Amino acid sequence: MVREESSQPLHVDTFLVGSGRPERSPGASVNVAVELTSTYAADGAVNYARVGNPTWNAFEEALGGLEGGLALVHASGMGAISAALSLVPPGGTVVAPDTTYNGTGDLLAAHEEAGGTVVRVHATDTPGFLAALESADLLWLESPTNPLMDVTELDVVLARSRELGVTSVVDNTLSTPLLCRPLSLGADVVVHSVTKYLSGHSDVVLGATVVADSERGRGIGERLRRHRTLHGAIAGPMEVYLALRGLRTLSVRFERASASAAELARRLADHPSVERVRYAGAGAILSIDVAGGEAAAERACAATRVWLHSTSLGGVESQVERRRRHPSESCEVPVNLLRLSVGIEHVEDLWADLDQALRAA
Ligand SMILES: *Cc1c(COP(=O)(O)O)cnc(C)c1O
Repeated sequence: MVREESSQPLHVDTFLVGSGRPERSPGASVNVAVELTSTYAADGAVNYARVGNPTWNAFEEALGGLEGGLALVHASGMGAISAALSLVPPGGTVVAPDTTYNGTGDLLAAHEEAGGTVVRVHATDTPGFLAALESADLLWLESPTNPLMDVTELDVVLARSRELGVTSVVDNTLSTPLLCRPLSLGADVVVHSVTKYLSGHSDVVLGATVVADSERGRGIGERLRRHRTLHGAIAGPMEVYLALRGLRTLSVRFERASASAAELARRLADHPSVERVRYAGAGAILSIDVAGGEAAAERACAATRVWLHSTSLGGVESQVERRRRHPSESCEVPVNLLRLSVGIEHVEDLWADLDQALRAA
């Protein structure tokens, strides 16, 4: 349920359709305008478009409501992640999972090169997180992890982080607010690659941060806003409009994709060409270790016709990729692992295509 001011709480599906719209007045447009402007006439609330834009406001209202906080849109997921990592003091200590999104991993390595400390804990090692938090400045979490699909006990780790006053950030891209709302578990910041499920159509690159609507949350939010304004990684209004349009259908897309992912995970477990299925039990991503090693995994990707062999995830089209193609991918990820981002095509077409591709490999 999403609580809107002075009204009954709405189901998420209903909120997604109605939020971020212009007020209903006679003759008003049903959609927010794409505000293409770099500046505004003097003496208004915002004077320059690197600082604010009405199209951003509409998207931020929708995503903020969905996560239960205050949202900011950024130029990309990495723009949002950079802003969140700017909360770490120079030379400070970050506690993070030993496998993270590879861009995050590279930024954490840069933090170490600059004299900072990163303590890496296996995503499922709750006691390891609790111990590491004692000396942390910032906790970074991603659950499930990408692409190993390890699930962290977010409630336990975030509760301890909160007790110790350690700033916590959760990359919620894979779960989406439909599966997990980290602010309600005590997280300080949620980051999203809006590029993925929230937009959902593989046509924009965009990011977001969300903070709690509390004194502490608003304070952190001001620091993130300042980072966005001064470092300048701001979103184009057209991209934000497309993301808001994509967001309207998030629940139906995610529901279909998740149901298909569950079915594929079940069938793949018995496939002769699959050594292991990695699936978090919910969501629309799963990974498989392909029998026959790296070469067989590559051949399977090349043999798909319905599945798109490409990087990224969360679009309406199903995507498959061998993650270790990327030199920056963690060595913890097996060379024969394929990440499957399940889209909204018919599950029988997805199964038939995957089955033939794996057998051809
Ligand atoms: C893609 C992704 C990112 C990076 O987002 P961009 O929009 O590509 O900058 C960060 N975290 C996760 C989990 C992702 O999947």
